[in-house]
Amino acid sequence: MTVAFRNVTKTFADGTTALDSLDLSFASGELVVILGPSGCGKSTACRILAGLETPSSGTVEVDGKDVTNLPPRERGMSMVFQSYALYPHKTVFENIAYPLRVRGTPKAELVRAVHEVAAMLQLERLLERRPRQLSGGEAQRVAVARALVWKPQICLMDEPLSNLDALLRLKTRIELKRLHAELGQTFVFVTHDQEEAMSLGTRIAVLNRGALVQFGTPQEIYHQPATRFVAEFIGKPASNTLEGELVEGSFRCGALVVPLRADAATVSATLPASGRVVLAIRPEAVRLHEVAGPGTVAMTVEVVDAVPPDTILSLVCAGASILVRTQAPPANLVVGATVHVSFPLSALSFFELESGARLR
Ligand code: ATP
Repeated sequence: MTVAFRNVTKTFADGTTALDSLDLSFASGELVVILGPSGCGKSTACRILAGLETPSSGTVEVDGKDVTNLPPRERGMSMVFQSYALYPHKTVFENIAYPLRVRGTPKAELVRAVHEVAAMLQLERLLERRPRQLSGGEAQRVAVARALVWKPQICLMDEPLSNLDALLRLKTRIELKRLHAELGQTFVFVTHDQEEAMSLGTRIAVLNRGALVQFGTPQEIYHQPATRFVAEFIGKPASNTLEGELVEGSFRCGALVVPLRADAATVSATLPASGRVVLAIRPEAVRLHEVAGPGTVAMTVEVVDAVPPDTILSLVCAGASILVRTQAPPANLVVGATVHVSFPLSALSFFELESGARLR
């Protein structure tokens, strides 16, 4: 089974274009995360897949079949929202059982299915409680159980963890990951939290202003960002991006000069010989040296931010500033000290200045 958005555009009555020619397809059994900043069109994409919203143009296909105009209940999908609503007067058991009751599932099968999903989500001892007797995390798990109990082909989750505190969010995320591996169903998970996306997704679709900017594995998104936007959106802290000039086999941004050839390796072959570009490098990829050497740049420590086990250094030189993340900061590091940095060639990405498209 495959899911495909084909050239889907959604423009609302007030003229807002929430999705712009979205082309995205994936196979069954994946956990696809739709990631992007607030307002980029994530929920709209999810609602169109569920059938709660109709595209202005384009089609949605499931298993090669056009479902664009199929009502939600005929799509074999369930959905968990951020503001999930449990029935307050029903027990946890009855809340979870509800989708099976409306489908007329025989009693013995219903009881078995509810217990099975409750066991997976560690809800068995809570089955007789009412929603008001649950913690936020427990109630959230009940909403997930209700969405999964009838074994939908696809489970859509729109920011389902955002009401939870940080620790519970992490625990539920791990639970979801385990559940996905166990069930083998297709999950589509919407979030604006890149860390959540990186941890959960088998693949991540990054949206920006209604357009798909990259669809890839967490590794690809992290190490090979397709655009400057992705480089600056992903990572904690995100990639350093520096606007500068390609000159004679090196990249220059103020006093910062990065040689693009070293021994056998060269990156300049795939770049224009000259002109303005954007260089990106992850904060943890920058190397720190105690003394100056070939290819190093002297920078001044502006801020030292200890976030155990990491230390985040804010470094400046004339015309450039970068963040460095390290677990082995130089000894006696103080604000105002000079450190020497180098940029390994394999860790560099380059983007066009105007379009932000990846050059290398
Ligand atoms: P968030 O993370 O904040 O929930 P999102 O990425 O899910 O955002 P959407 O809810 O899909 O974004 O909205 C995309 C754009 O469409 C936004 O600019 C939003 O204001 C707009 N929008 C959404 N629903 C409507 C509507 N019914 N009428 C007009 N504009 C809408």
